[in-house]
Amino acid sequence: SNPSLTNSGLPSIIRKKLMGYVGFANLPNQVHRKSVRKGFQFTAMVVGESGLGKSTLINTLFNTTLYSPKEPLPPSAERPKTVAIESIGADIEENGVRLHLTVVDTPGFGDFVNNDDSWKPIVENIESRFDSYLEQENRVNRTKVVDNRVHACLYFIQPTGHSLKEIDIEFMRRLHTKVNLIPVIAKADTMTEEEVAEFKERILSDISHHNIQIFQAPTYDNEDEETVSEAEEIASKIPFAVVGSDKVVRAPDGRQVRGRAYPWGVVEVDNEEHCDFVKLRQMLIRTYMEELREYTNDVLYENWRTEKLLGMGVAQDSTVFKEINPAARMQEERILHEAKLAKMEAEMKMVFQQKVQEKEAKLKQSEEELYARHKDMKDALEKQRADLEEKKRKIESGRPITPEKNTSGRRKGFLRT
Ligand code: GDP
Repeated sequence: SNPSLTNSGLPSIIRKKLMGYVGFANLPNQVHRKSVRKGFQFTAMVVGESGLGKSTLINTLFNTTLYSPKEPLPPSAERPKTVAIESIGADIEENGVRLHLTVVDTPGFGDFVNNDDSWKPIVENIESRFDSYLEQENRVNRTKVVDNRVHACLYFIQPTGHSLKEIDIEFMRRLHTKVNLIPVIAKADTMTEEEVAEFKERILSDISHHNIQIFQAPTYDNEDEETVSEAEEIASKIPFAVVGSDKVVRAPDGRQVRGRAYPWGVVEVDNEEHCDFVKLRQMLIRTYMEELREYTNDVLYENWRTEKLLGMGVAQDSTVFKEINPAARMQEERILHEAKLAKMEAEMKMVFQQKVQEKEAKLKQSEEELYARHKDMKDALEKQRADLEEKKRKIESGRPITPEKNTSGRRKGFLRT
């Protein structure tokens, strides 16, 4: 029997010791260098009522002025009636690593008298980004796929100290299967420590009551204790109570810190005793940015894609059936593949027909040209013949004596003499 096969028929893994340095230990470095060269794409969305400090927090997170300070609208100003979607992009670099960051803002969310459909344009925006990715995946040439999918959504909760509002729950319920939700308590410096702790508890119970799934930092079996405890610590702070500021102020002990100064003291953004900003930054940027991207691709996008294909009638089977039935999955893929082939074939046929038509038109044209040339030549020859004929006649008629006359004359003369 084959020793590399276990009873189940699956190949077992043979652990072998290498006799010397082979070199694939350098793979992580190779991957790393390649990623660094290509740069990273990351798209974050911010959602929440205006004035909750969204722009300020983005500036604070990426330590740059992505958003310039907003002038408050005068009360008389014409306010928009719908939620708008606005995105800005920035290429930022840190120690040679390039990040193409896109921030999608949703001004108007929660700002109206009736906010029932506030979530709708946002879902549509997220899905259209999935659509665009799917379309790129289906292209023949897929070398330049741009990932504009939203990798994380910071949801700003008003620091009311009560519980979640209808609009918060509705938004999260509609969005949690399509985007990595990261809830934050805005302007946490306006609440006391106890108020924050109680508020967090209420928010978490609301979230679990409505079966809303928020992004959780994943932990793996083979991970070291430190990584696991770091993930647990981050998780324990959700929803992050944040404070944003793009100003540097003087702490009581004289240090210059990013923070907000009050008559009663200074709230430091980067101080974990004061707020959860550092943990949020860890979640979003320092530790789990790649996990956010991966989860978006492997789970959120994949589920959306499956549902979309099912909706298109690609397969009538239920998702569950497909998951436990690899044959059904293969069948679905085969149908998709065939549809793609058929489309390509149709396109090729069209191109071919077009080419044939072009060729035919060209042939017809050269045929006409040939006819025209032939006619010209024939005419020219005809004319030449006529000319020659004419010349011949002239020569003949221009002769003083015709051969017959000559003969007969001579004959006459001869006869006469
Ligand atoms: P946005 O409309 O959500 O983008 O809010 P902005 O970032 O423009 O902030 C609105 C106002 O809130 C500005 O005056 C900010 O200075 C202030 N602000 C921003 N972040 C905080 C914060 O964490 N705490 C407090 N107290 N005020 C903040």
